[in-house]
Amino acid sequence: MCCICWDTMGHSDQDHFPVEIANVEGCRGHVFGMKCIVEWLTNGRPMSNTCPMCRTQLIDAHEDTMFLN
Ligand SMILES: [Zn+2]
Ligand SMILES: [Zn+2]
Repeated sequence: MCCICWDTMGHSDQDHFPVEIANVEGCRGHVFGMKCIVEWLTNGRPMSNTCPMCRTQLIDAHEDTMFLN
């Protein structure tokens, strides 16, 4: 289940397949639907570079979404 929209995630869903945040110190195992985490990270809010679940900072403004796997 996606922790942003609480909808289900499916590997067959091109927009909302599950992605896990990886290689981020302090954030382990948080999984979100792709379209939701991308929207979260790109919406321009001050907290948009943090994990929606644990608020761990994920990226700085100069990096892309490479922490996702
Ligand atoms: Zn979602
Ligand atoms: Zn997290």
